[in-house]
Amino acid sequence: MLTWKEIINFSVNGNPTPDKRVEKTDAEWQSQLTSEQFRITRQKGTERPHSGALCSVHDAGKYNCVCCNTPLFDSTIKFSSGTGWSSFTQPIKENAIKYERDTAFGMVRVEVMCNTCDAHLGHVFPDGPEPSGLRYCINSESMIIKKEDVKNDN
Ligand SMILES: [Zn+2]
Repeated sequence: MLTWKEIINFSVNGNPTPDKRVEKTDAEWQSQLTSEQFRITRQKGTERPHSGALCSVHDAGKYNCVCCNTPLFDSTIKFSSGTGWSSFTQPIKENAIKYERDTAFGMVRVEVMCNTCDAHLGHVFPDGPEPSGLRYCINSESMIIKKEDVKNDN
C-alpha cells in the first residue's frame, strides 16, 4: 500500500516506470477528447466541485484514463469525501499514477497524472481515511468508468 512518505519520495526523486507509454500531440488529443476533457487533462484544468458526472457514482468497476484507457482506480477504493470531486485512497497499481510537486496558486500540493500518457487527473492529499491516509482528489472528466457485471453468487 502506498503511503504519503512514498508519494513525496516519488514526487521528489522520480516516479515508478509505467507498463507502457502513450504519447500524442495536442492536436491528436484535441480531436479525440471533448473540449472540457482536453482542458482538464492536457491543460491541467479543474472542474467545478460537484459538477463531475462520476462524483456520486459508486457502481462496481474500474476508472480508466479518459485519454489512454489505462486503469487508474477501482470502485473498491473510492469513498465519499464530501469535497465535490471523486476521491480514492489508492491507485489500482503502484505504477499507474505519476506524481509531481505543484506550487501553483501559492500552495505546495502533489499533482497526480496518468503515468502512461501524462493526463492531469487532480491532486493527492494526506488527509484520507485509514489505513493509507491518502485522498486522491480526481476530476470526473479525466476518467471513464468501466462497469463490472454484478455477480450474485453469494
Ligand atoms: Zn492516460
